[in-house]
Amino acid sequence: MKIVVLAKQVPDTWSDRKINLETGMLDREASEPVPDEINERALEVALQFKDANPDAEIVALSMGLEDTTKTLRKLLSMGADSAVLVTDPALAGSDMVQTSRVLAAAVQRIAPDLLVAGNEATDGRGGMVPAMVAEILGWPVLPSLDEVAITAEGVSGTTQVDGGSLSLSSGLPAAISVTEKSAEARFPNFKGIMQAKKKPMETWSLAELGIQAGPDAAPVRSVMVSAEARPPKEAGPKVVDDGTAASQLAEFLAAQRLI
Ligand SMILES: Cc1cc2nc3c(=O)[nH]c(=O)nc-3n(C[C@H](O)[C@H](O)[C@H](O)COP(=O)(O)OP(=O)(O)OC[C@H]3O[C@@H](n4cnc5c(N)ncnc54)[C@H](O)[C@@H]3O)c2cc1C
Repeated sequence: MKIVVLAKQVPDTWSDRKINLETGMLDREASEPVPDEINERALEVALQFKDANPDAEIVALSMGLEDTTKTLRKLLSMGADSAVLVTDPALAGSDMVQTSRVLAAAVQRIAPDLLVAGNEATDGRGGMVPAMVAEILGWPVLPSLDEVAITAEGVSGTTQVDGGSLSLSSGLPAAISVTEKSAEARFPNFKGIMQAKKKPMETWSLAELGIQAGPDAAPVRSVMVSAEARPPKEAGPKVVDDGTAASQLAEFLAAQRLI
């Protein structure tokens, strides 16, 4: 079984993330680039299958800037067997369609049985890339799985919808996306970090991949028309305990639909 894990490099969630208000793009210099946490969980889902099936092969795949090798090295240190980075200056500012075309072409070349992605990237937050890649490949997609079971024949899991949960299953090849409930990612150990330095990591340009993609290659594409900084947060309501604090708190939580 060959599994591709889609991994995006994103600005550190815990740092001050900024967008460039002129270009509308992320200011990637403003914060440390890290693997998106949801993609570490996606890798964990694949690694748990590999723990029980040592013949399984896991390839981490990313499209991004050249320094995305940093993210891929981390995934290798966690246990992926090899990594592929698709990087090309022509891809700068790609929208979801162009990103998905590139990732689908790379998946086709790697020829896995299963594709595992996060349900939503913490920076772009489109939540569409896994389904778009699956659509291009003509594969079934099982979206936003909280629980996943992989066998040699297929994949199944549960996903939440309004008013209930759905059990989904599919034969292979297939694509799945997982939520933050799916698996707690393991930490790389010292042995893994040392091994990662020797694991294969390939870098493919668009020419090497054999496709034209990116903003200039798109007949139609989404463009950013304006960008505004988020207004500073306003102070929240203060609860003063005059003997009614508990009911004030309950009212506030109910108004926010938190209880
Ligand atoms: C040179 C270059 C510059 C770029 N600049 C920017 C930029 O400034 N701002 C920006 O937001 N994006 C940038 N991108 C990335 C690209 O535009 C987005 O990845 C894409 O639009 C996906 O949208 P999303 O983040 O909403 O994905 P979602 O659909 O929310 O992602 C869901 C899942 O799909 C997978 N996935 C998504 N994107 C990738 C990826 N790139 N590689 C591997 N797996 C992925 C992950 O598993 C993720 O968890 C750049 C890419 C390149 C090559």
